[in-house]
Amino acid sequence: MEAIPLAEGDLRWVFPELIDVDPVLDVLRQAAVRVERLAGHLGRPGAGLVFDHLPGAPYAGLSAFAEIEEVAFRVHVSPPRDPHRHVLTLPPPWQVEGEISVRCDAIRDCGRHEIETVESAHGTPLDAADGVLTVAGWLYQRGTTEPQASWRKRDVLSRHR
Ligand SMILES: [Zn+2]
Repeated sequence: MEAIPLAEGDLRWVFPELIDVDPVLDVLRQAAVRVERLAGHLGRPGAGLVFDHLPGAPYAGLSAFAEIEEVAFRVHVSPPRDPHRHVLTLPPPWQVEGEISVRCDAIRDCGRHEIETVESAHGTPLDAADGVLTVAGWLYQRGTTEPQASWRKRDVLSRHR
């Protein structure tokens, strides 16, 4: 999996039949700015929106992170996932997800523990981009109001076996 910056990838990996690119790109850039602002608040600059594109794959998702050791904030948009083959398929709907998570602290590292999540489905590219913007705003709001140490305290999986 290669992380490709928004400006260097192809928006049609996420929105295959997109004709009017600029309005969608404009909203996505606003979303990226919100996540960047959160990353700046946390003291570790992020990479903005990046494509998670597999070489040769027709579709990809787009995500932005703001991450420090204590907690990670993530927004993701992608075409729907085929429930049987675990690959992305032709949208609509687009799936938008927001996730606030902490690193697993168990002896056997399972990855990340989700603390708060949101998700929504969208019928058009512009609506999906608006969904990303809404989630980016939610992440910013949560990340700038909750103390950084509070996320781990709410981790019900902490030190699980
Ligand atoms: Zn774990």
